[in-house]
Amino acid sequence: MNAPAALSERPSALHPTADAGFAVYVHWPFCLAKCPYCDFNSHVRLQPPDQARYIAAFRREIAHRAALAPGRTVSSIFFGGGTPSLMEGRTVEAILDAIGEYWAVDPNCEVSLEANPTSVEAGRFSDFRAAGVNRVSLGVQALNDADLKSLGRMHSAEEALAAVEIARRHFERYSFDLIYARSPAQTPALWRAELELAISHAAEHLSLYQLTIEPGTAFERLFRAGKLAIPDHEAGAALYETTQEITAKHGLPVYEISNHARPGAECRHNLVYWHYGEYAGVGPGAHGRLVTAEGRMAHSTEKRPEIWLERVEAEGHALVEDERLNEEAQGDEYLLMGLRLVEGIDPAVFRALAGRELNKSRVGSLIEQRLLMERTGGRLAATPDGALLLDALVADLAA
Ligand code: SF4
Repeated sequence: MNAPAALSERPSALHPTADAGFAVYVHWPFCLAKCPYCDFNSHVRLQPPDQARYIAAFRREIAHRAALAPGRTVSSIFFGGGTPSLMEGRTVEAILDAIGEYWAVDPNCEVSLEANPTSVEAGRFSDFRAAGVNRVSLGVQALNDADLKSLGRMHSAEEALAAVEIARRHFERYSFDLIYARSPAQTPALWRAELELAISHAAEHLSLYQLTIEPGTAFERLFRAGKLAIPDHEAGAALYETTQEITAKHGLPVYEISNHARPGAECRHNLVYWHYGEYAGVGPGAHGRLVTAEGRMAHSTEKRPEIWLERVEAEGHALVEDERLNEEAQGDEYLLMGLRLVEGIDPAVFRALAGRELNKSRVGSLIEQRLLMERTGGRLAATPDGALLLDALVADLAA
């Protein structure tokens, strides 16, 4: 087969972000309880799900996506949720086997699993490790018990740190999440102390999110009723600055708006999203972006777990969205993803995706306002001020 013929059979090889990697996202949609701030596709069930039935359905959706995107080499697999640490080790193993059956898997593939740091779930870490997971991301969220309680979490700070220690023993790589700006009582000094405690337990990676009030959550109802207070914009900005200062001081600088890592320890899975690579999403409510002969396609699946299961059993997949992204949409998505990164975006890649240049006068004006800055190689990145206004910055640049 000559080279042009090979390329024409693989439209993804010609896509402007073809070198960003190929990832598989697996969504496990069940949790033991619904956290009041959470707007993820997570469901609480009285009876535990039939994992054997879910394994069979995941296999079928993986086969379906592999038929749409054959010949890829998987660089990252991520089990997210919901609470994937409620999966049995054999379920994780069977899904990894199915992925390996339908695609080549890079020997250095990052295989991440989100886990809640209860003692029960930490007890499964050796099963997950044996199944092939090599990185866990722990939903610690806070390191004081009063705040954990108000966030609706089911673990204590002590239990969380014990789970971090178990993760450290089982996995080459681990990360944990914390939520800040979670109450007006959280001062920069308190957050600094908590963050330093976290860093003393975080080998290489931390995800640090500001609490946001999401539509449809219990927190939104409390907030609207005046029963929940959160820090105002200025207080939130002060906590954000503390976050940047402390993580940089301890060698885990920000590399994405909410993510901090020692150099080389960045989450490879999320980098595929932020570099606008290809990813297959399987499971209830999963999203994907695959390049097929039709173009770059946006996929998403049925969110309700039982309906997803029935549809996959009947049709081999449960896609509810299968839409070609035009040039403008691809350019917008590239900006939205890439400007989250400290390294920023490449205007030449934007041009190749969007079919037009970025508006030079808008770029100049945003640089003048110190919201955008030029990096080496002509890349454009949000400044720290721009990162605080990222949605507006992206909208301005995309217009
Ligand atoms: S455990 Fe995670 S996914 Fe489940 S409800 Fe809480 S925040 Fe949402």
